[in-house]
Amino acid sequence: MRSERLTPGDLVGCRYRQVQRLRFPGIGPLEASVQRKARRDAGVAEVYSRLPIPPKKRGRVPFERLDLDPDEELAEFHTLEAIAAGANLITGAVFAGDWDGVAWETVADILVRNPDGTYLPVMVSNHRVARPSPHGQMQAIATARLGLGAAVPVKANLRHHTIDGYRLALAIRGLEEAGAVGVDKHGAVIGQDRDRAYLVDVTRYAPAAERALLAPPPTDPRRVKECANCRFWGECEPELQRIDEISLFLPGDRAAPYRERGIATTQALIDAHLGDISHIAAAWRADIPVLRRVRETTAPRFDVEIDIDVEAYLDLGAYLWGAFDGHDYHPFVTWSGLGEAAEGVNFATFWRWLMARRDKARQHGQTFAAFCYASNGENHWMLSSARRFHGVVDGVPDEEEVRRFISSDQWVDMFAVARSQLVGPGGLGLKQLAPAAGFHWEEEDFAGEDSLHAFLVAATGAEGEAEAARAQLLSYNGDDCRATAAVRHWLRQGARSAPVLGSGAV
Ligand code: SF4
Repeated sequence: MRSERLTPGDLVGCRYRQVQRLRFPGIGPLEASVQRKARRDAGVAEVYSRLPIPPKKRGRVPFERLDLDPDEELAEFHTLEAIAAGANLITGAVFAGDWDGVAWETVADILVRNPDGTYLPVMVSNHRVARPSPHGQMQAIATARLGLGAAVPVKANLRHHTIDGYRLALAIRGLEEAGAVGVDKHGAVIGQDRDRAYLVDVTRYAPAAERALLAPPPTDPRRVKECANCRFWGECEPELQRIDEISLFLPGDRAAPYRERGIATTQALIDAHLGDISHIAAAWRADIPVLRRVRETTAPRFDVEIDIDVEAYLDLGAYLWGAFDGHDYHPFVTWSGLGEAAEGVNFATFWRWLMARRDKARQHGQTFAAFCYASNGENHWMLSSARRFHGVVDGVPDEEEVRRFISSDQWVDMFAVARSQLVGPGGLGLKQLAPAAGFHWEEEDFAGEDSLHAFLVAATGAEGEAEAARAQLLSYNGDDCRATAAVRHWLRQGARSAPVLGSGAV
């Protein structure tokens, strides 16, 4: 990739990255980006291994597959040569061009020759690109039949991911310039289901891709969510601090209403005396992580209390259900077989254990509840496990039973409890709140991306390396459970270390 050319990745999220990429060419990618690329490369390699392998004769029809190296200097030239040679499958193709004066470049993971000699671009994505639906209607080709078979109808709905659309739009543009684009301008995406390429009409993405490509880059940074994992943060943060940019306190669109009133700095927001938001801004300036909205905080109390946290790998499945009962941490884990019976067996074991603890409490006349922090993930994976494995794996409850549990008062979301009584100038995530409650993780600086990478190592790494990654994931998950318990106890004790909002303490 040539740094002065825009890639599809430059067109999504913060556009200031393209400015910083040119200003600081020596700043290399962060570890998380390297790991993300490794996951993408692993996905692409897996798909390539499922493609038809050359040379093959199918009856009297020759079949040619050319594997190109997209990082090679002459990759664009080799792509055009492969197209001119009429190869049936081309992997690692590269297109580059100039769109109204803006230089761009993209990799097309696979080009599939159509019967009329044009090509279908196919992208490999780590997203889930389609969802099965009885009412949906799409066309798909089996990965193993690309270049050999035709698309067939499947019952699924497309899930839109901007970057996949941009990659296809630029590949279609490249094929157009090579005189090899199909009349219908279709492309395809292979997502987490590596066996299927779903056809999409690329014309729907082209206008947005063109707008994004031709939009002038911003002249200043603004703090957004992705700054947390951006290699240029070390350059942007001092710029933002120097001008006291309000996005340092209110990232993304959250500052928009104040910008409209002409407030562009945090100090101006504090000085504007706009009520709670000005108090919260002052707390942020004073490094106070959490404030009380109420004088007396509380949290529900039960005789038997279990804290639960789930770990999943992308959309593929939940591999770890962790539970802390106040004394011991109980991990229910499988390091292989996500989406298969092994995952269902692991969930069934966890569910039986949890229900046994609940039933035992009832038999002893004790009250019982399970807690989590922000229940979306746990609810999603409990319901998804029931849908996928009930009736297939012994002991997996049906969806109705799970719904009854998660809507009962025996399932408590501590994030909702905290949010009703506290406010966090930097947010109320467990990572912000638990330290205020005096809790600290054994595995510091271990965030979402790290756990994805650690799971890959835990599942597929060499023995010693895999053991270390497993221990790390169990420690992290166990501490998430313990942190939830710590927040609950702290709220019950009144959360005294948090000043009361608007009390004049800040
Ligand atoms: S640190 Fe933030 S503002 Fe700067 S380039 Fe990265 S994402 Fe953009």
